[in-house]
Amino acid sequence: MAEGVLRLKRGRERARLHPWIFKGDVADVVATEPGEPVTVVDASARWVGRGDYNPRPALCCRVLTRVDEPIDRSFLERRLATALAHRGTIGDRAAARLVWSEADFLPGLVVDRYGAVLVLQCSTLGMARRRPEIVAALRVVVGDHAVFSADEAAPARLEGFEPVRGWLEVTGPASVVVEEGRARFEVTFGTGHKTGLYLDQAENRALAGSLAAGRSVLDAFSYAGGFTVQMLLGGARRAVAIESSPEAAAHASANLALNGVAERTEVVTANAFDELRRLERERARFGLIVLDPPPFARGRDVLDAARRGYKEINLRAMRLLEPGGYLLTFSCSHHVSADLLEEICREAAADSGMMLRVARELGQGRDHPVLLTVPETRYLHGLLLEAV
Ligand code: SAH
Repeated sequence: MAEGVLRLKRGRERARLHPWIFKGDVADVVATEPGEPVTVVDASARWVGRGDYNPRPALCCRVLTRVDEPIDRSFLERRLATALAHRGTIGDRAAARLVWSEADFLPGLVVDRYGAVLVLQCSTLGMARRRPEIVAALRVVVGDHAVFSADEAAPARLEGFEPVRGWLEVTGPASVVVEEGRARFEVTFGTGHKTGLYLDQAENRALAGSLAAGRSVLDAFSYAGGFTVQMLLGGARRAVAIESSPEAAAHASANLALNGVAERTEVVTANAFDELRRLERERARFGLIVLDPPPFARGRDVLDAARRGYKEINLRAMRLLEPGGYLLTFSCSHHVSADLLEEICREAAADSGMMLRVARELGQGRDHPVLLTVPETRYLHGLLLEAV
C-alpha cells in the first residue's frame, strides 16, 4: 500500500523544528491506515518529513524524521543508539530513562531501565503498532533484558488503542531493587505511578541528601519516599513524609525499612494541605522541606486554581522553616514556567514575612533532555530556597 501524504497549510511548517502537527495545521491528507507513517509536505508540496498519522486526536501527526528514510527496525535501532549515546554514563545507572519521547526524536515512546528490566510505554497508535519491532531493537541496542509494557490508559484512549500492561515475550521478575546513589528502592512492575519511580527527580533527591545532615526534614507529596530515604541516608535526624495515597505510603514505609532508616521516620497518610496546616498549628519546625506535588495545572484553564494551590503549600512550608533552613520546591505542571513558580514563591515569601535566598534553580534530571525548539520538553521546575 502506498504511503499516505499529509499536506500542511501555508505558514504551518513549524514541523521542521517541532514534531507536532495539529488538525488545524493540515490542508489535506491522503491517508492510509490510522497509525501508519505519512509523508509530510508543505503547502508547495516540498518535503517536510515523515510522521505517525492518526485522524482521531487533535494532535494528529508527530514527525519522526526530517530525512526521507523508512521508519523500520534499523531506524529504531539508530534512534535508540543515539538516545543511549546522549546519556553517556547516566544511562548506566540502575534506574534511568533511556528514551524520552519527543526529546529523543521518538515521539510516543518512553523506555526506562530498572536493573535488568526495561519498562516501555507507548502513547501513540503509531508506536503501539510497532511495539514488537521496538522490543527487537531494544534487545539489539540495550541488551537482552526482560521488557515490561506499562501503557497508560488516558493516551491509549485518546489515540484509540488497547493499552498493554504486562511482560512482552519473556516474563521477568515481579519486582527489583534498584540503587540510586546510596539508596535502594523497590520497584514492582505494573504497580505505582509512572513506570515505577519518578526518575526525573533522581538528581534533586541526591541534592536533598547532601543538605540533610543534622536536620529535621519534611517530605510533602512523598510517593514511595524517595526524597525521605535520601535525606535520612544523608544524615537527617528525623523525617516526616506526607502522602495521600495509602498504596504509595505503604511503598514509602517499605523503602524506609529496606534502607534501615524506618525508625527515624513518621509516614503520615494524609492530604498534604491539611497536614501542613496541622504542623503549623503545632508550631513544628524543620531544617529542610521538600514540596514535590503532582501537577496542579494539567491545562491552562485551571492555572488560577493551580497558582493558589502552589502558593498555599509554599506559604505553609515557609512558615515551618527554621532559620538557615532549606526549602526545595517544585512544579511539574507544563503550564507553570520557571518564572511563574518563582513569582508564586515570591508572593508566598511576602505573605510569610520570610527572607529567602535563591540558592539554586532546579529542573528535571539529565536523562530527561530538553530541546530548545520543543519547549514542552522542559516541564519540571524547582527552586532551592534558603531562609536567611
Ligand atoms: N517526590 C516523589 C514524587 C512525588 S509525586 C519522588 O521523588 O518519588 C506526587 C505525589 O503526591 C504522589 O505520590 C501523589 O499520590 C501524592 N499526592 C497527590 N495529592 C496529594 C495531596 N493532596 N496530599 C498528599 N499527597 C498527595
